[in-house]
Amino acid sequence: MKNLSRRSFLASSLRASLFGAYALNGAALNGAAASQSGARSIPWSNWSGGQLCQPAGRIDVSDEEELVRFLKTSSGPIRPIGSGHSFSALVPTDGHLVVIDQLGGILDYDSDTLQTTIGAGSRLGDLGAQLDAIGQGMLNLPDIDRQTLAGATATGTHGTGLSLQCLSAYITELRLITANGDVMDIDASDGDLFDAVRVNVGALGVVSRIRMQNRAAYRLKKREWVAPTEDMLTNFDELAASHRHFEIFPLVYSDYSLVLAIDEVDESKAEAEEAVAEGEEIALSDLRELGDNPTPLERLTRNNALVANTQATESVDVSHKILTNVRNNRFNEMEYSVPIEAGAECVREILKTIYDRAIDVAFPLEYRYVSGDDPWLSMAYGAEPHATISIHRTASEDYSPYFDIIEPIFWKYGGRPHWGKLHNLTHRELIQLYPRFKDFMEIRESLDPTGRMLNKHLRTLFDVR
Ligand SMILES: Cc1cc2nc3c(=O)[nH]c(=O)nc-3n(C[C@H](O)[C@H](O)[C@H](O)COP(=O)(O)OP(=O)(O)OC[C@H]3O[C@@H](n4cnc5c(N)ncnc54)[C@H](O)[C@@H]3O)c2cc1C
Repeated sequence: MKNLSRRSFLASSLRASLFGAYALNGAALNGAAASQSGARSIPWSNWSGGQLCQPAGRIDVSDEEELVRFLKTSSGPIRPIGSGHSFSALVPTDGHLVVIDQLGGILDYDSDTLQTTIGAGSRLGDLGAQLDAIGQGMLNLPDIDRQTLAGATATGTHGTGLSLQCLSAYITELRLITANGDVMDIDASDGDLFDAVRVNVGALGVVSRIRMQNRAAYRLKKREWVAPTEDMLTNFDELAASHRHFEIFPLVYSDYSLVLAIDEVDESKAEAEEAVAEGEEIALSDLRELGDNPTPLERLTRNNALVANTQATESVDVSHKILTNVRNNRFNEMEYSVPIEAGAECVREILKTIYDRAIDVAFPLEYRYVSGDDPWLSMAYGAEPHATISIHRTASEDYSPYFDIIEPIFWKYGGRPHWGKLHNLTHRELIQLYPRFKDFMEIRESLDPTGRMLNKHLRTLFDVR
């Protein structure tokens, strides 16, 4: 066995090696940029490579006027795309892809209300420094920052935090350009329309700008360590309530989880604690170094020995750097939210099922809490917070055998799917899970009666033939 010191099994490096980064995705996006006016047909693929299509062309608009002109003067199916970081089939089309990469950056801001209008094609990662420069920070961020603001909000992308909502819930106004080119500025005074459009799965039109409620720029301290999964699940409510962000990555075939707690720190303290330990990397293969067909018990023993008694790591930085990571290993993902009362039991059942059925998977689960909110299609819609649970499989492997076994467990606990992640639900189940799903379907139909914005996947979700 490789000489792997316990010290080297540092929390940050485990995360970095189990998940992954971005060498390939640029290619797909550069392809989009290269194809003006749909002249050449370049294949499109999402980040994981699990979704592919051969669109008729890509329209890379340089401003809102060009976007309006295109929508008014063209016909046929279209799909707006962000950075291709959704795992589900939201984008694939044989029509045209609409790229809004050039509609980015800060358009205006208010230092009193801490609201900022942002070009919807901005990458979250680019926004971090831009907001910092005007003394603002986003209230929360997801695990990574490669998504566009439009793409992230369209799917209800969320971070971690019992008192923190998904990104869409912090939208105060947005501009929607409908399939026939009508320009609509929508805010809370528009009532139902506002609640529908903040998580829109790209089915209501193309969003060109978004006004976000931010807060004053802030610094965060992250602490990562390894702890028994059962202890963490038992005490999760308390832990989640006592940290701004708290989540665990339950390791499969192990009694342990990687634990992550993030809290705000004041500037002076932060300086003193900057740049604490960096870990060496442990490769995913280390969790698989048992030769062919290890038994579940062999895996458990090996993984427990590998992770027990490891040291914690700490780091302090500006919020956007602490909250997001780089994912180097490509994977596919399924994520559901369940009521927090059901969260721990759901995680236990998934871990037990993996063990009992000897499913060959090394990726950990991810378990976090998100505050309740009001965009209709948010997976945390409602007054109460929700627990979200993710499962992952390396992109080069077929995810179906694993995901097909686990998905019914999510259903059993009343799970709602993340729109950007893999799931097998149709409008029949979704109407039961999302109280305003039917209302969303009606608004969709009124804004796009011919279904120009739909692809095969969305037709299934919204029962459109
Ligand atoms: C490594 C990784 C980590 C992730 N971590 C998290 C996480 O921590 N939390 C979480 O909740 N999710 C997470 N996700 C999921 C991700 O945030 C969502 O799938 C998000 O939608 C991706 O944004 P995107 O810019 O790539 O959009 P795309 O995937 O390109 O598109 C997503 C949807 O947005 C629509 N869309 C894009 N642009 C527009 C526009 N201008 N107008 C209207 N609709 C538009 C598209 O049509 C599509 O329906 C992760 C994904 C990956 C690959």
